[in-house]
Amino acid sequence: MLKNNYHTHMKYCNHAEGMVIDYVKEALRLGFLELGMSDHAPVLESFMSKEEYLNNYGYDTMKLSDVEDYLNQIKECQKKFSNIKIYSGFETEYLEEQKDFYLSLRKKVDYFNLGIHFFKDKNGNVLNCYTDLNYDNLDEYYLNAKKAIETKMYQAFVHPDLFMYGYKDKNGCHTFDEKCEEITRKIALLAIENNIYLEINANGLKYCKDKHDLNTWLYPYPKFWEIMKEYNVKIIVGADAHTIAALSNENVRLVYDFIKKSGINIEEKMVITNDFKC
Ligand SMILES: [Zn+2]
Ligand SMILES: [Zn+2]
Repeated sequence: MLKNNYHTHMKYCNHAEGMVIDYVKEALRLGFLELGMSDHAPVLESFMSKEEYLNNYGYDTMKLSDVEDYLNQIKECQKKFSNIKIYSGFETEYLEEQKDFYLSLRKKVDYFNLGIHFFKDKNGNVLNCYTDLNYDNLDEYYLNAKKAIETKMYQAFVHPDLFMYGYKDKNGCHTFDEKCEEITRKIALLAIENNIYLEINANGLKYCKDKHDLNTWLYPYPKFWEIMKEYNVKIIVGADAHTIAALSNENVRLVYDFIKKSGINIEEKMVITNDFKC
């Protein structure tokens, strides 16, 4: 079971509960060795219309004015608790216009998770990954990930299979078609080339019809991870905790069962190499 988690949210992002210390105490109680704090980084309003900002959870990210408090709380916990390794981080979208802003944040923390919930396509339109992805635009999802990962700011690409949440094939049906397979293989190669981790996200299970029926899983999407087995890619499990209980809940257990049954090799620890922090 999970002993190191690098995907943790707090109340700063407006849709999670608890402060840094609450997660640290629970992680200690569970016997965790490492805990990475990765709340949703601010999305600057200036790069989107008000409507786009509202529709893409702009207000469900940390406020710029809370960044220092968040980082200070992590520092205090690092000082106070010596028997658990605590890392500072952010989960970010990748909007190219915000690159300098991301860089400024990246210098303040130990690592970044890339979590793409929305992005801009080549025409500047915002595509939402839960509702807007289909056969004709799935390449754009990959291209956004590629642009982000090639900045070398990221340690992990979390829920890389989130595109399967609402994907529509040529006929408008929710199937894992040849385009999904092509993108899956490209993501594997991208991760290997850039030496980053791909995350199997336990929190995604909250969206499926029946957690006990793999055929209903949206993400983690079983076929995506079956394909990943063919590659020498580094895979971790992330709780993506938005509540303290989610550090070790049924979703985490079911994801571990799936990994075991499928014979997927996972890394228990994420090696954090920090070339950015100053
Ligand atoms: Zn969240
Ligand atoms: Zn997350």
